[in-house]
Amino acid sequence: MNTAETELLATTDRLREQQLAWTRDLIAIPTVNPYSGDDSAGSEAEGQKWYAQTCRNLGGAVRHVPVPDDVYKRAGMIGIPNRSWRDRENVVAEWQFGQGGPTVILNTHMDTVGTDGMAFDPFDPRVHDGTIYGRGSSDSKGNLVVGLIALAALKQHATGLNGRIILESVVDEECNGAGAGTLACCLAGITADFCICLDGSTEAIHNGCNGITTPKVTVYGRAGHAASGGTAVNAIDKAFQVKQAVDRFAAQHLEKHPDCRVNLGVFRSGTLPAIVPSVAELQFNISYAVEDARTAEQAHGVWNGAVVHQRFETMLAKLGETDAWFKEKPVKVEWLKDSYPFYSTADDQYSQTVIGAVHELAQREAPVRSMPAWFDAAHLSRILKKPVLGIGSGTPGKAHGAEESAQLEDLYRGARYISLAVHRLLDDKGGHP
Ligand SMILES: [Zn+2]
Repeated sequence: MNTAETELLATTDRLREQQLAWTRDLIAIPTVNPYSGDDSAGSEAEGQKWYAQTCRNLGGAVRHVPVPDDVYKRAGMIGIPNRSWRDRENVVAEWQFGQGGPTVILNTHMDTVGTDGMAFDPFDPRVHDGTIYGRGSSDSKGNLVVGLIALAALKQHATGLNGRIILESVVDEECNGAGAGTLACCLAGITADFCICLDGSTEAIHNGCNGITTPKVTVYGRAGHAASGGTAVNAIDKAFQVKQAVDRFAAQHLEKHPDCRVNLGVFRSGTLPAIVPSVAELQFNISYAVEDARTAEQAHGVWNGAVVHQRFETMLAKLGETDAWFKEKPVKVEWLKDSYPFYSTADDQYSQTVIGAVHELAQREAPVRSMPAWFDAAHLSRILKKPVLGIGSGTPGKAHGAEESAQLEDLYRGARYISLAVHRLLDDKGGHP
């Protein structure tokens, strides 16, 4: 580590009070995704205002990037339909250091999951024993502020740096979204030589993630009076059979890819106890591996979950071979979403510089591996076609929880990682490998 780097880290450490104050400020602004599905549903708007102003105060050139209604269609992918993008713009801020040099994007999402059932006031950040509590503390407001602090520190040590830093605060990453915010930024032409997605927890540096796809399965019955039986067929009974078939599919899927789960998240049917229900709806989240996307690309030329869709539909079609009702009334499958996975070899010069900086500062060497959950880094990788790493400073196991919190030490260390990593990316005399 050279003198400039040591001084940069000292400045980053001196900004800890600022970091804690900003993290508190941001947690106190509710930014629950409008599609959280609970009573806390809100909007990112107020958080985005705060973020834009903070970036302006740091001298950034700020622009707002709206999400077009047909954002998924433009990207040729299946995304959750009918989401509204009113008052839901991304905030993108830019700083130029010196001349030329690489461009680095630091991307984080502003929205959080809902807050129903939280163990404390989700928007009243409290610090106790070196831990900050509140919705978004780990996922991902702590990370948003890590980016801001790194930028603030870098600005004070800009001598000799050449390059551009772009901070992105995006909407709609959570709550079954498909990363529309980040996708909109990518489609708007905002690109870089290297991207860091500041999201997730400290357990690993993420160079990939699984894909996730959502089928909606409609199961038909035949309505009738509860007392008469007769020709009535109960759609709930039939839906149980479908659930069992999906469980068998899930077991095989999991055997092939041990971190690819299938979750039944929606099961709807029935109106009154006196009526035999005629229809049932099931929705699943199916996590799928990079290998499945690779197979789809080889077979159909598209990097997505097509082969998983095929397997799933074939499995359900087979129900008609042994069950007369399913033969007469096959289930209907609609694909609501397909967020592709990504994988980066991380052997490029930028990734190696960043991994090197993190490992130099880390108490324990963070493994470099794929994330089981989907995150926005997939769009940065697949659309921009640039190397991407996910670096999170949240506390493992705390995101989305009833007692969401983050350890301050992790957030402070995260700011050191990002400061040093970006400094080296922009400094041709820095510690490149
Ligand atoms: Zn997140």
